[in-house]
Amino acid sequence: MAKRLIYVAHDNLNLAKGALASASPSTDEIVLIESARMLNSARWHRQRLFFMLSAARHFAAELTRLGYKVHYLKASDTASGILKLKHDFAEVIAAEPSSFRLTKSLSSIGVKFIANDFFMTSRIEFRNWAESQKSLKMENFYRWQRARLDVLMVGAEPEGGRWNFDEENRLAPPKEPHPWPDYPRFERDQIDNEVIEEIANLNLVGSLSEQTWGTTRQAALQQLDFFLSNSFQDFGPYEDAMTSRSWSLYHSLLSPYLNIGLLTADEVVDRALDTFRKKKIPIASCEGFIRQIIGWREYINGIYWFFGEDYREHNQLNSKRRLLPLFEDASATKMNCVSTIVKEIENRAWVHHIPRLMVLSNLAALADVRPDEFLAWMRRIFIDAADWVMVPNVIGMSMHADGGQMSTKPYVAGGAYISRMSNYCKGCAYDPKTRSADDSCPFTTLYWHYLDRNKDLFKKNHRMFQQYSGLRKLKDLDETIARGDNVIDGLLRGEI
Ligand code: FAD
Ligand code: SF4
Repeated sequence: MAKRLIYVAHDNLNLAKGALASASPSTDEIVLIESARMLNSARWHRQRLFFMLSAARHFAAELTRLGYKVHYLKASDTASGILKLKHDFAEVIAAEPSSFRLTKSLSSIGVKFIANDFFMTSRIEFRNWAESQKSLKMENFYRWQRARLDVLMVGAEPEGGRWNFDEENRLAPPKEPHPWPDYPRFERDQIDNEVIEEIANLNLVGSLSEQTWGTTRQAALQQLDFFLSNSFQDFGPYEDAMTSRSWSLYHSLLSPYLNIGLLTADEVVDRALDTFRKKKIPIASCEGFIRQIIGWREYINGIYWFFGEDYREHNQLNSKRRLLPLFEDASATKMNCVSTIVKEIENRAWVHHIPRLMVLSNLAALADVRPDEFLAWMRRIFIDAADWVMVPNVIGMSMHADGGQMSTKPYVAGGAYISRMSNYCKGCAYDPKTRSADDSCPFTTLYWHYLDRNKDLFKKNHRMFQQYSGLRKLKDLDETIARGDNVIDGLLRGEI
């Protein structure tokens, strides 16, 4: 009898999930495809391309070692790669792809999908939840997840008596010197080195010298062990802090592995709960971490599928500016926070959620950058980027381009927030406390500029009441708006 052909996407690298869960070398052959369309479609960060290609090649080698016949193809695109082999097989199966584009393309050539179980919440479960809600608040979804999955629950009540520990978990960076964890570095093997050589001549960005990202399941497990033993304890209190003294703080660095399948959300949650009980990790840290995995991660994936393919095109605030040069070049700004963060991205293709949200996206929103331009940049530059995760995080959460479908109020802030949560402002050319002077912090100036230029849209939003009563009280509003116009022009010229 003809065998089945299993297509393993670059984000399905797991033997126990997706189409491979029911596979065997006697009934199935495997295909993985390096698509030229993907490779040439953008100026990717070197770390990202290296990580994706090398992890897939390592996984293909592992499947071969387990006795599978593996077809590792280079093709113009995924569908044409599959079509080259399809006629020799009874059927082609794959896990439901994680993007609309790939779903369409594989459906059009008759690939059969089996449910995507790389998430703890199926697309149908999320839809049912969303359709039962008046608003799609993440907090409500998270509480539903806690109860449904029976995570950190004592009967029907949250363990520790509270659903969240945000008050404990919003500390500014501690006094230095502070013993920040020193994260593992992963030695390159032969497959890694082959990939490095192959991509050396491509038109990419960023540096490959930091060895932060491993490319095997073993490396992913090592990273998980390291996090649970060294950083989990302090994850909560400093999860929103930013400091030039540590690029990682206590973050887990697990998103790249989770997003390509080398780790799965359920195993990370099980290991975290086990460590919490055995090592007496503070509940604020455990809850803070669990919230990220069963709350934010699952919610974002649910939102991507729930809002549909056109969601990415929203631009409710009608933003018109092109991408600012400082996102591509740390030397194109005197803003210490931005240049420090962009340099970190150049090194590792990673920064944690607060630099992404409250510095980079905040600046893009305040400077009126088009959401599609900013999305495209983030998508090609971050190690853990994927369509399902970038689109809601950028269009909904951080740019508020969806007219409030996801969050009722925009995540924008002036320099005071960055000053409180980081040590960046001490070494900066700008002053976070003023708004209309020549050396005023661009964030502070543009915060008021943003509120003023979007007042027709936001003035009826009761969650923005306080901000708008602040705006009405400004005595130097005209000067602030004039400086805001100059700041946007200066940012576009790379001179601020
Ligand atoms: P931790 O801080 O240790 O958190 C643990 C895990 O929680 C992460 O590994 C991740 O899997 C999950 N998580 C937390 N927040 C989110 C979220 N908002 N969306 C999805 N998962 C979340 N995360 C990505 O995985 N890929 C992206 O492309 C991505 N883009 C983002 C863009 C913006 C504008 C913002 C605000 C956030 C984005 N995030 C993205 C979420 C978050 O920044 C990263 O998941 C996190 O920084 C990864 O580092 P970590 O593994 O150390 O995370
Ligand atoms: Fe960033 Fe403003 Fe602080 Fe400078 S003063 S580091 S621009 S927040």
